[in-house]
Amino acid sequence: MPLDYHSLLTAFALSGCGLAITFFVSWLASRTERFLIAWTFGVAFMALGVLIYSWYAQTMVPAIGAAGYTILLTGLAFVFGAGREFRTGVLPWRSMVVMAVVSSVAMAVPMLAGYNGAAIVMLNVAATVILLITAWDYWLGRAEARLAIPLLTVLYVLTGLSFVPCAVLLLLDGEWRLSQAPSNWAEDLNIVICLLTLSGIGALSLALNQARLARGHKRDAETDPLTGLLNRRALLSRLSGDVRGPAALIVFDMDHFKTTNDVHGHLAGDEVLRSFGKILALTSRSQGLAARLGGEEFALLLPGASLIMAANLADGVRRRLAKRNFSGNGGSFASTVSAGVAWSEDALIDFEALLHNADKALYAAKRNGRDRVARAGDTEPPASSRPLPEGRRDVVERVRLKVG
Ligand code: GH3
Ligand code: MG
Ligand code: MG
Repeated sequence: MPLDYHSLLTAFALSGCGLAITFFVSWLASRTERFLIAWTFGVAFMALGVLIYSWYAQTMVPAIGAAGYTILLTGLAFVFGAGREFRTGVLPWRSMVVMAVVSSVAMAVPMLAGYNGAAIVMLNVAATVILLITAWDYWLGRAEARLAIPLLTVLYVLTGLSFVPCAVLLLLDGEWRLSQAPSNWAEDLNIVICLLTLSGIGALSLALNQARLARGHKRDAETDPLTGLLNRRALLSRLSGDVRGPAALIVFDMDHFKTTNDVHGHLAGDEVLRSFGKILALTSRSQGLAARLGGEEFALLLPGASLIMAANLADGVRRRLAKRNFSGNGGSFASTVSAGVAWSEDALIDFEALLHNADKALYAAKRNGRDRVARAGDTEPPASSRPLPEGRRDVVERVRLKVG
């Protein structure tokens, strides 16, 4: 049985209410995602506006029409705001107020003056403009999700354009004082498209938010909170994905760090670690992967680097730290670091051996007085030259298990 226009309006209002509740509950679950609140208001206002418009279509009381359309336009301004807030993190209050006020005044003045035909044309034009601006805004953020965001853009464009024939038919008709609400194929098509795109846009917006949250959780799980560097687990997972072929590994360990904490306090110790993290981050920006292995131990993996290059780099890092001044409970102080460097023909196959060799070299640096860099080859033949009993996958798996 085909649905009449009013049933379609009611269906839109009901699904808008359902969607508003969904957005609100999603916001309750993760309150940092404030754009969900703008979405909740947007969809709720649109649903209410459409319900009031349906009432207007039955009564033709101008004040009811003006109220329904004002609420609908305010809802559209909130939807625009939600999209912008999702992309930039900032709710564009001023633009939203301008959008809602200008479009509502342009519609309400003719409506209240008895020119409801002109008012409905204004409503359709304003809805098209706001939805196309929203589509453009999403398009600007397409780098975040190459499939979902262009799809959202298409849905917004489609919805926006579905208001155009409604305005065009009224303009062609040239009748500015309507005795009944417009009822034609364009109105039917408009409400059907809005119904279809509303749920699509809602589902895609929520899916985008979920994907962003999941990325955030993954980033948190891979990042050391004190220094912002990768943690040990993340270094290993990058190793199996990004690193192929020869590589050098530097392992750093702060000198007498227990004493630093004892004399200057844990906060000063943390500051040293943060500062060293920054030096490593800067050093690894152009090449390599920097990670905090745990405690006061760090690593810098340098794909493609030779042992000598890596040792020079490690010495540069060491000198940079030594030049810095810190202040703690015992006054101003400097901190030093020792480093061990090792090299392998294939870091992925040899990572266990590479780490072992770099650690051995590190202990040699410690033994020889600290605040220095030692190379694996200088102490004894590299363990990496020993044949490995198992294949690449098994070795990496074992390393993973070992570091937990
Ligand atoms: P060595 O020169 O032989 O490496 O001596 P060390 O004192 O640095 O070595 P040790 O392993 O005995 O001590 C490491 C210290 O690092 C102990 C621990 O309290 C400190 N530490 C580990 N993680 C942190 C941290 O996150 N913040 C601070 N402030 N200290 C930390
Ligand atoms: Mg240590
Ligand atoms: Mg130490």
